[in-house]
Amino acid sequence: MSIIVQKFGGTSVATTEKILSAARKAIHAQQQGHQVVMVVSAMGKNTDTLVSLAHELMDRPPAREMDMLLSTGEQVSVALTAMAITSLGHKAVSLTGAQIGIRTDNVFGKARIISISTERMQKLLDDGNIVIAAGFQGIDEDFNITTLGRGGSDTTAVSLAAVLGASCEIYTDVDGVYTADPRIVTEARKVSHTSYDEMLEMASLGAGVMHSRSIEFAKKFSVPVHVRSSQDESEGTIISTVSEDPTRGVSGAAVTMDEARITLTGVPNQPGSSNAIFSSIARANITVDMIVQDAGVDGFSNISFTVPSSELEPTLDAVEPVIEKLGIQKLSHQDNVSKVSVVGIGMAEQAGVSDRMFRALAQAEINIHMITTSQIKISVLVDRDQALQAINAVHQTFELDHVSPEAVPAESPQATPAADPAAAANELQGMEELAITDIALDNTQASISIKGVADTPGIAATIFERVAQENIFVDMIIQSFLDNTDLASLSFTVNRNDVERTLGVLNEMQSDVSYQQVVSNPAVAKLSVSGIGLRSHTGVAIRMFQSLAEAGLNIEMINTSEVRVNVVVDDSQGQAGCDALNKAFADVMHK
Ligand code: ADP
Ligand code: ASP
Ligand code: MG
Repeated sequence: MSIIVQKFGGTSVATTEKILSAARKAIHAQQQGHQVVMVVSAMGKNTDTLVSLAHELMDRPPAREMDMLLSTGEQVSVALTAMAITSLGHKAVSLTGAQIGIRTDNVFGKARIISISTERMQKLLDDGNIVIAAGFQGIDEDFNITTLGRGGSDTTAVSLAAVLGASCEIYTDVDGVYTADPRIVTEARKVSHTSYDEMLEMASLGAGVMHSRSIEFAKKFSVPVHVRSSQDESEGTIISTVSEDPTRGVSGAAVTMDEARITLTGVPNQPGSSNAIFSSIARANITVDMIVQDAGVDGFSNISFTVPSSELEPTLDAVEPVIEKLGIQKLSHQDNVSKVSVVGIGMAEQAGVSDRMFRALAQAEINIHMITTSQIKISVLVDRDQALQAINAVHQTFELDHVSPEAVPAESPQATPAADPAAAANELQGMEELAITDIALDNTQASISIKGVADTPGIAATIFERVAQENIFVDMIIQSFLDNTDLASLSFTVNRNDVERTLGVLNEMQSDVSYQQVVSNPAVAKLSVSGIGLRSHTGVAIRMFQSLAEAGLNIEMINTSEVRVNVVVDDSQGQAGCDALNKAFADVMHK
């Protein structure tokens, strides 16, 4: 018999009336002949209330006690949901994470799932019950209660669907996935389909509609996910391998409001520097986001990166000892910035996407502090008070409110049920372990770095528009921001055959754009590590930087995304770098 996992978020179980309405949906699905597992979140804003209570007592409450506290929200809602179903004359049993057997690691506040037992759930289902699972929680080896991170009930739902061979429905307060958060972009449009990779990037770049780790699961275990409204029966958005329109350069936009930027100036330009910095941060379980390292001059380079504002203090604590050890000249930080991003799987095949974004921002007089691009996304860092204006401007320029004629119509997702769920669950041991699918060496690229560019709106747009006019395809772009000066540094890669032409264009532009110096490397190697959850798995940074440092490689440029990390090194070091990465990730390669 087919199994459906139905997840109801906080607003969808905010009152007993809403709980009854959720219960009716589950009963309806059971009457249609499915076995039903419900995953419920804490009622309304209950988790926020619990967080506030803790902070009334102390600023940094012990992480273990925080998880003990926060997990209670879901315990209330599972019990009430079971009662609602019983009151409607059907059989239901509620289970906590521990009772199901959701085993996690012991990283309180952002625990990862190691394994899930299916026996108890399956037996209850076979006895005709609707099983109601508490979202967002698990249990570690020592029986401590852990939580999966805010918004983690989505991850509970998709992981249960993965072990049960079920399909997954996410019932929420919007009727699907939109081209941007409809609360902040009024023109945002619901999409019929979105691919795992697009959703993974969107979620990790701030689209709070899905917990990003839930999409890692969905992709890894091929679980189709249907995001839909808990208020009505309308079709929502199907997240699967299918994109609404794969030819579209940009399919969505997202913003992360609360970002903090850290800049290290005067970092000795030698192998191992990045390793020392990022390993130390990763060991504190902090996910570094935009990393921008500009090619060094005079033996020193500058590294800027962002972390969530809430992690600024622990990040500074982690970086402090490294500053002294490496002899880094200066550390500065800024806590009033936001990241605006666009995502699209068609982006890699289209020229002129980035300059269009930069032009839209320039026209809105928004200054860009940092830029990083990867194959399927472009992110910029802007002042927080301009972030909403920025995402609206970007949404408009790519006409995301228009449906493209090629759009695929929505249809209900089909899951392939596991033939033997217990065996499947067994196979899924180490569920959230890192999965690397590819390590590639691209030795067709050259790098160009423009130093001392005036840090004012419109510069990036002007430069990349001119380059695009020459039909030169720009691959990776990073812009960093030098502290206490009005100057930025803009680096990018182009095909080696285009390097002379690009330098010519830059030369001609000297009268329109003022810059101090152009440095180019006619032959660089781009090393890419592709997989799932690359940024959220802090271990990736450690392995990568460590192996490259051990191989004696000097990193020229870096960019990261949820599905790919790219590192640019000198061509002469490309093969050695590729070998080092293959060795470092050998045990997690899933071809
Ligand atoms: P739940 O409590 O059901 O988990 P969330 O608040 O976590 O609900 O997620 C739903 C909210 O996500 C929506 O109300 C919407 O404001 C926000 N959101 C952010 N980005 C998007 C997007 N791209 N599409 C749809 N909703 C989005
Ligand atoms: N209740 C938790 C939270 O508010 C988990 C969730 O809703 O997904 O973050
Ligand atoms: Mg949510």
